[in-house]
Amino acid sequence: MAEAFLVENARIVQVTTGSIAADRSVLVRGDRIEAVGRFPGWSGATLDAEGRHLCPGLIDSHVHFFLDAGPDPRRGYLQSDDAQRMETARENARLAIRAGITTVRDCAAPGRLMFRFQQKVDAGEVAGPHIVSCGYALMRPKGHCHFLGGEVATVREARQRIEWNLNHGAGFVKLMASGGGLTPGTVPHEADLPLEIMQAAVREARANGVHITAHCHATDSIRRGIEAGLDMIEHASFVEPPGRYRYDEDLTREMRDAGIIVGPTVYSALQTARRFRAAGAAHNPGDVAAVERLEGRLVNTGHFRRLGMKIIGGTDCGATNTPFDSLVDELDSYVEAGLSRSEALRSVTDLGASYLRLSRVGRIRPGHRADFTLLAGNPLEDLEVLRRPLRVYKSGCLVHERNGRGPA
Ligand SMILES: [Zn+2]
Repeated sequence: MAEAFLVENARIVQVTTGSIAADRSVLVRGDRIEAVGRFPGWSGATLDAEGRHLCPGLIDSHVHFFLDAGPDPRRGYLQSDDAQRMETARENARLAIRAGITTVRDCAAPGRLMFRFQQKVDAGEVAGPHIVSCGYALMRPKGHCHFLGGEVATVREARQRIEWNLNHGAGFVKLMASGGGLTPGTVPHEADLPLEIMQAAVREARANGVHITAHCHATDSIRRGIEAGLDMIEHASFVEPPGRYRYDEDLTREMRDAGIIVGPTVYSALQTARRFRAAGAAHNPGDVAAVERLEGRLVNTGHFRRLGMKIIGGTDCGATNTPFDSLVDELDSYVEAGLSRSEALRSVTDLGASYLRLSRVGRIRPGHRADFTLLAGNPLEDLEVLRRPLRVYKSGCLVHERNGRGPA
């Protein structure tokens, strides 16, 4: 029988109801939570939580392991060799774990390196969160993030690329449906992936039982994404030619009515906007409305919330000035946009898990994976306590201890 231990005398953060269950114990066996309650007869290994809060491990739905989160991640990537890129990924993974992030979804990577890295983490050779990865994202030739690989010119190439990803361990499909700030030669207000390729990718994802999402800055790319039948949209920035930000309420309603989940990735955008304001220029000379578009994501999030859209929490970390421990900053921007703290927390725990179709993740309850953190306070009252957990458990193993000798 797998090894078991009890975390006793804890306050459990019940994310689904936004409440705290006091004086509870959690029995962990192997990588699972076996039971939650009181176990007066227990005589095995025990950790006294001393009345502290136990919270589900967080899920960051939008990360890039192979970008360095520096001032110019594209340049950093291009100037590195594979060994340095793996080191970047390792450092990113370590940072995430220390921040209590126990699951991440990588939304564009050099596929070969990504799957090798994922295997190392799965095998426990490298400390890091559980990873769901798309492998290579798909973009038009020279499209957004093409330097990571994944360019496709035809429906046939798109299908082959998706099959390759899925055969090597991908858990979903990611498209780059418009240009982006990181990539000179692309413009964020242009929908630049053809509709027929998007439709073929949706069919391929459905046939393989995985979800499909797309990077969409351009309003036209959002429109195309709805028509193609995407499950999710990242950023949803609403940029129109010749580069102006203009929120479109009708289109948002269409997204909502189609059941599309949105990942607004606000914090990274605000960080980049701040930097562009200071420098007086964007990375990409074609990106004329960069600051306006980036700051618009906070405004959009308020509208998404008001219209009852499904919002999934993700940072776009790895991208410009957005390190792998930025998830609390992202949640803070959701609160600024009008979500309650509880709603923000759910976007990266139970609801985040269900939107990503991850079962038995995101809550502290019997049968769920034993991914949780021990916190110094109540995150429903103060999200800041999530930033530096006292202890982090992944699959029932202690992977980080603050000021302690945790293996991370
Ligand atoms: Zn991204």
